[in-house]
Amino acid sequence: MTLLADSAVDVASAAPHPAQHTGAHPASNPLADARSQLAEAVGLLGYADGLHRMLATPRRELTVAVPLRLDGGETTLFTGYRVQHNFSRGPAKGGLRYAPNVDLDEVRALAMWMTWKCALLDVPYGGAKGGIAIDPRAHSVAELERVTRRYTSEILPIIGPERDIPAPDIGTDEQTMAWIMDTYSVNSGYTVPGIVTGKPIALGGSQGRASATSRGVTHVALAALAHVGLRPDRATAAVQGFGKVGADAARFLADAGVAVEAVSDMYGAVHRAGGLDLAALTDHVRATGTVVGFPGADSIDGAALLELDVDLLVPAAVEGVIHEGNAGAVRARVVVEGANGPTTAAGDRILAERGVLVVPDILANAGGVIVSYFEWVQANQAYWWRADEVEARLEERMLSAWGHVLGYAEARGLSLRTAATALAVERVAEAHRLRGLYP
Ligand code: GLU
Repeated sequence: MTLLADSAVDVASAAPHPAQHTGAHPASNPLADARSQLAEAVGLLGYADGLHRMLATPRRELTVAVPLRLDGGETTLFTGYRVQHNFSRGPAKGGLRYAPNVDLDEVRALAMWMTWKCALLDVPYGGAKGGIAIDPRAHSVAELERVTRRYTSEILPIIGPERDIPAPDIGTDEQTMAWIMDTYSVNSGYTVPGIVTGKPIALGGSQGRASATSRGVTHVALAALAHVGLRPDRATAAVQGFGKVGADAARFLADAGVAVEAVSDMYGAVHRAGGLDLAALTDHVRATGTVVGFPGADSIDGAALLELDVDLLVPAAVEGVIHEGNAGAVRARVVVEGANGPTTAAGDRILAERGVLVVPDILANAGGVIVSYFEWVQANQAYWWRADEVEARLEERMLSAWGHVLGYAEARGLSLRTAATALAVERVAEAHRLRGLYP
């Protein structure tokens, strides 16, 4: 067995992640976390350094300047990225993030996690991620359209329905995907619905895509609660993030009987013992843009939400929020990672020592890319599935992956994260081995 392995990759080159706007820990470094997870899996699998280096390194990275003409007439410039981490199992796949703190190392980490996520769920893709270092809330819709179209033009040579298929992530949505689809199609001379997923349904989006990540989070959260002997109608939960993932996850958990006692967004958190009225909270968010000030609950500090005395904690916002500084204070028995990379490597060790069951991101939040895959299949066949068909297939894939990861972990005495990563890495390495090295 080759002992791993920080030496096999240049971990030191991963600069600390600023993350000021996201509430993440200031020292959060998602690339170092992603590499340390890979190193652990590779150590377990006994792979040689050459293979480890190949798995740790993106196949292709593109950094682009994205000039934007503002509505006032002046011009400004943003930096955009698209990182394709791996293609061994199929076209690269992954979201596009608009956030001020986006940088190349974060995109590299997110692309690597997409590779493992797709492999773990047996979706025939490699992994990619893109981003623009931009605060979307600071721009008009017209400016966001121009910046999206220009970014798309800049990455045009490396994307395509059989090359690399973007999707929404933090700060982007189905409208962003519609602009990308249109820009790509205009440049191709015909409509190419398979170029992106997470499109509006009117343009070939899939039923169930918008809520797919949240549904997947809920399926594994309920399975994990059952695994530790908790009935949903006796369980309490806190959800960090009330956006694309957190808001619907809170709702679906509540529908299953879980008392969702606290939720937060980037402005603050609200708490109510016994459970929040999520329908009323959703109306409040629609009216005010934030959970803060919701009359049916007490205001609490956003960071304090992570330390509440609940059974289930769902971090569904950004990277690095559970770290060495607060992991010892997490009181939940089960953590289900709705976000990508919410737990740092140091935070993960502390949770494991304390016996907290962590359902890792590459399993917990895979519902989004599963239904992205369904959307791509439907677009390629020009044949549409009903919402109940999409949901049944999503549930089947989520629960089968949960069972597989749990069995692998229990048979070998591993954490769910190490089991999930090792299973995924094994599948990618097997595809790589079968294809052979060219030339
Ligand atoms: N951005 C989502 C994720 O992190 C979805 C990616 C996709 O559907 O391609 O999994």
